[in-house]
Amino acid sequence: MNIPYDFQAPVSQTLFDRAAVVTPGGVNSPVRAFRAVGGTPRFMVSGSGPYLTDADGREYVDLVCSWGPMILGHAHPAVVDAARDAVSRGTSFGTPGLGEVELAEEIVARVGPVEQVRLVSSGTEATMSAIRLARGFTGRAKVVKFAGCYHGHVDALLAAAGSGVATFGLPDTPGVTGAQAGDTIVLPYNDLDAVRTAFAAHPGEIACVITEASPGNMGVVPPLPGFNQGLADLCRAGGALYISDEVMTGFRVSRAGWYGLDGVTPDLMTFGKVMGGGFPAAAFGGRADVMAQLAPAGPVYQAGTLSGNPVATAAGLAQLRLLDDAVYATVDRVSAQVGDLVDEALTKEGVPHRVQRAGNMFSVFFTEDAVTDYDGARAQAAHRFTPFFHSMLANGVYLPPSAFESWFVSATHDSSAVERIAAALPAAARAAAQAADAEEGAR
Ligand code: PLP
Repeated sequence: MNIPYDFQAPVSQTLFDRAAVVTPGGVNSPVRAFRAVGGTPRFMVSGSGPYLTDADGREYVDLVCSWGPMILGHAHPAVVDAARDAVSRGTSFGTPGLGEVELAEEIVARVGPVEQVRLVSSGTEATMSAIRLARGFTGRAKVVKFAGCYHGHVDALLAAAGSGVATFGLPDTPGVTGAQAGDTIVLPYNDLDAVRTAFAAHPGEIACVITEASPGNMGVVPPLPGFNQGLADLCRAGGALYISDEVMTGFRVSRAGWYGLDGVTPDLMTFGKVMGGGFPAAAFGGRADVMAQLAPAGPVYQAGTLSGNPVATAAGLAQLRLLDDAVYATVDRVSAQVGDLVDEALTKEGVPHRVQRAGNMFSVFFTEDAVTDYDGARAQAAHRFTPFFHSMLANGVYLPPSAFESWFVSATHDSSAVERIAAALPAAARAAAQAADAEEGAR
């Protein structure tokens, strides 16, 4: 679909043109630029509950939720009040503060395997620091990661990463040297034999295996039964640490994240997104004996000027304290409902697809085959996503602008928001079907 200029978003287009002068590609995070789908990225000016409003005054039902954090919807009064109260007392002290202790206590109380936690400002920092700690603790260099899993833009972890790297089909990233990536072993997701083989080929060399607890960055590709437990067992047997990256799933799919669903115990875990209530707050934590290696308790250095920022911790804590069983039941129900609606609309139009789910995260793949790894995700007919996406956008539903991302709902996605999604789907499904016809006709 060729969308050189988006007539529905003239103000956003003007802002995007301005942005492109002063910012590479006009955005501060690549997928926001709409390059995978074309058209004008919407510049949002406000959000309320399940809705976003753009600079042209158009309202959308938001199925991105800031890529996960906004589980209580936009501008939740308790979160906004907590942030406002904190701001009124000062925005940063560079000293310890009560909010950090309370947020850490909340995380430790929710997630069994986390005995101690260190706060940072982004998921990238969390995974980068967890990897350093695993290397420091084990005295080993090599890191195992899985193709299609995204752990932020950490040099050593960008090999075969998901998210924007998948969106743009980048084989790897210039600027990451061979030395930085040389100790990274990339394996196919959901393939325990490959992990077994890696441990056999590198005895005593693997510091850790890092995996998304349930991947959402190549679209939603849940672990096959026994995969995460198998990783934990292989790590234990091989003297390596098992790092479960819960930046996306943490506090979103259950009170205790993916750990709350599968009960597999990692050595270290990483968090972000939901725990910050929409502010930059993230964390890594786990076994007390491992965390004890971290400065100033131990020799592995890690620090941050704004780590444990009082505004971010206040907002994050306010959000976490509201996340009770009733909220998760609502988010689970709404996500199941929206997933079913997408499934029905595409089935009705005869579009080959699968809606894949992991707890309350879900995404659509334009293929009939179950997707269990990155190769499977990339084999989908992603060209059908573009007209589907633009039809939804034109009808007031904001999807992730890429076929390789999870969709997210909030507890505020009520029946009227769901009705708007339902109303937009038939045309989008038809657009996806027609895209397939055009493609077949062209062959
Ligand atoms: N890990 C996972 C699983 C993620 O989904 C992300 C971001 O999407 C990150 C790490 C990086 O987090 P951030 O974007 O806050 O650096």
